[in-house]
Amino acid sequence: MDVSKLVRENIANLAPYSTARDEYKGEIGVYLDANENPYDNGINRYPDPHQFKLKERIAAVKGLKTENLFLGNGSDEAIDLIFRIFCCPAVDEVIAITPSYGMYKVAANTNDIKLTEVKLKEDYSLDLEAIISAITPSTKAVFLCSPNNPSGNLLSKEDIIKLIELYKVLVVVDEAYIDFADDEGFVPLLEKYPNVIVLQTLSKAWGMAGLRVGMAIASTYIIGLMNKVKYPYNINCLAQEKAFEMLSAENVEKSRKELAEIIAERKRVMAELENIASVVKIYPSDANFILVKMKNANETYNSLIENKIIVRNRSSVVLCDSSLRISIGTPEENDKLIKELRDE
Ligand SMILES: *Cc1c(COP(=O)(O)O)cnc(C)c1O
Repeated sequence: MDVSKLVRENIANLAPYSTARDEYKGEIGVYLDANENPYDNGINRYPDPHQFKLKERIAAVKGLKTENLFLGNGSDEAIDLIFRIFCCPAVDEVIAITPSYGMYKVAANTNDIKLTEVKLKEDYSLDLEAIISAITPSTKAVFLCSPNNPSGNLLSKEDIIKLIELYKVLVVVDEAYIDFADDEGFVPLLEKYPNVIVLQTLSKAWGMAGLRVGMAIASTYIIGLMNKVKYPYNINCLAQEKAFEMLSAENVEKSRKELAEIIAERKRVMAELENIASVVKIYPSDANFILVKMKNANETYNSLIENKIIVRNRSSVVLCDSSLRISIGTPEENDKLIKELRDE
């Protein structure tokens, strides 16, 4: 499959902005090329537009090559870039599953791209046939989310591969929660499939939501396009430095322990929820949250709020009637949740 045929012509022909730091690459010197304030305060210089140091570290932690890695201001930047690179406004289309992450639709709408939503089945599994029959000659990409938000489940890898192997569209697999799943996701398959873009993030398992660092992992060709279209200085220097530090061997070890604790707590919270009168159904979770169907979600939501426990009410979402999405907290926070639900 020739992915370059899916790229907008203006993007294929785009000459990217060349920064002062692109034109001179030495390390130490008298920098009089970027109109910066010369007095050192730690942030007076522009950040590395290529995030070289941070990418090397992420690549080492994840076992990737830096040329397959794009870093954005959250995964949301990567989602937006996919539209801007591949989808001609008011002409092209994409498909997304529903219920799922809300940003695909917002990014589609802001880019004036028609987004066709294909419902998951009742058990939140992929309806592959419905997705395939929704593909038109104008469809550029299918957005999937696995483990899916808000349902929490991994989607069938077999089905996703079938979709990829049609070689008609880009398949975007949002793996924001993959670290919580007992599955290696689609990164190991990227070499085989040029039409796949995997999205991951430092916001969830890695504990850096406040920094805003998201990732796209794909072929060098697609990553090259994303780098060409992004704002030159899309990750500020404090975020680059802090993320680098948070991914030191010692901090990676700490994150892995937290991850194990969150997964253990997920199991415990699910077991506790089984015994709560207002709970109707607990959906299986491969993520750091649990979708729970309640007798009356609005009532439970409000009573939790009164006790300053905030969960996400998903009742108004397709296939999520009377359901709450509950993030796994610390053991103490989870105890508080369980206690309030018991007392409700
Ligand atoms: C939280 C989340 C993200 C992460 O977004 P960032 O912009 O990287 O914080 C991406 N996709 C899904 C489905 C999410 O739930």
